[in-house]
Amino acid sequence: MIDCCSAPGLLPFEQALENMLNVIKPITDIEQVTLDNALGRILAQEVKSPVNVPPNDNSAMDGYAFQHQSLALKQPLKLIGRSMAGAPFTGECKLGECVRIMTGAKVPNDCDTVEMQENCQTDGDSITFLSARKFADNVRKMGEDIAIEQTVFHSGRELTAIDIGVLSSLGINEINVYRKLKVALISTGDELKKPGQSLNKGDIYESNSQFLTAILTKLGAEIINFGIIEDVELSISNAFKKADELADVVISSGGVSVGDADYTKSVLEDLGEIEFWKIAMKPGKPFAFGTLPNSYFFGLPGNPVSALVTTHQLALPALLKMQNCAYNKPLFIPAKTTTVLKKSPGRMDFQRGIIKNAENGELLVTSTGSQGSGILTSMAAANCYIVLPAEQGKVAEGEWVNVQIFNKYLQ
Ligand code: AMP
Ligand code: MG
Repeated sequence: MIDCCSAPGLLPFEQALENMLNVIKPITDIEQVTLDNALGRILAQEVKSPVNVPPNDNSAMDGYAFQHQSLALKQPLKLIGRSMAGAPFTGECKLGECVRIMTGAKVPNDCDTVEMQENCQTDGDSITFLSARKFADNVRKMGEDIAIEQTVFHSGRELTAIDIGVLSSLGINEINVYRKLKVALISTGDELKKPGQSLNKGDIYESNSQFLTAILTKLGAEIINFGIIEDVELSISNAFKKADELADVVISSGGVSVGDADYTKSVLEDLGEIEFWKIAMKPGKPFAFGTLPNSYFFGLPGNPVSALVTTHQLALPALLKMQNCAYNKPLFIPAKTTTVLKKSPGRMDFQRGIIKNAENGELLVTSTGSQGSGILTSMAAANCYIVLPAEQGKVAEGEWVNVQIFNKYLQ
């Protein structure tokens, strides 16, 4: 455990992320789902193909199947039957003969090549090819997409719509996935009202649990929403206790600073163990991470931009690890800033920007303007973070900066 209260300064962002990922243990419970319910689930098995795809050599064209050696006879071929998708030709096709064949239909056993019908002249059952075809042309080989026993997917893969199509093409209908993560949400603050309610003097609309719900839905988690909890230590403590009993992860927002009504930290210290709670990042300095008896907790700052950025940058990698997904470090793309970027050395900045191509193809990034931690529209207007390292000071117009494009969880 890192005691930030006695340690001078703040925990560097990268170290906080690393510490957290070292502490987090992935869930191990597995369940079976049908393909209809598999979208977005995390695969808990290796998938090997039980079949060849395609299962037979089949035709890529409507035309005529024949033995390539027949071309050496230099005479029209005799039409002796047909092979349709779902109704293959089962007879023998000898030298000098051919079989009418449709796209996707099985190529008869004796045949090796298909000529497309546009290239043929027909006269009753006599078929003349207008030009010479190469051996094996227009034949899709058995297993050319996926060979039997070939590993198709590894464990830990988040199943996409395409993956579900691939699994279906292998004849697989049921698949092992990790069970859904259970995440409890707690919003603290006497001033918070749900959208749809009327506001009294000093009230504001609650937004953190709403975007958290959206992000967690994209993650495929099961959400247990405890709603808005008043700024009373006992109420917050009771909510955390109950949440810890029900969920794998408890995410709270608000009350992690050092104000008179900020009880989250003291409650967490009382019920569990805080690994860290102050990070050298902006927005989002107060962010608590630790363990409760049965779960992990993330104590997000109350300010919506801080809550959103810390969720995305810190909580999300941890949740993905809990779900057994591989953690991919974010991709940084260099771009030229079109504006001055205010910054003082000390904390890592996640400023909000808009990245686009200039006419000459160069990548340009423009700040979305005011970067206050309560201005949620600065996130809505952006399509990327401008990531400025802790030691960096003010950035002049035209300098190169690192940009991290928003991923699907923010969209
Ligand atoms: P706190 O960390 O509780 O001091 O909150 C910091 C700021 O964020 C205050 O202005 C709160 O009103 C605001 N805030 C806290 N929780 C939320 C929330 N769930 N949604 C929107 N704003 C919030
Ligand atoms: Mg508060």
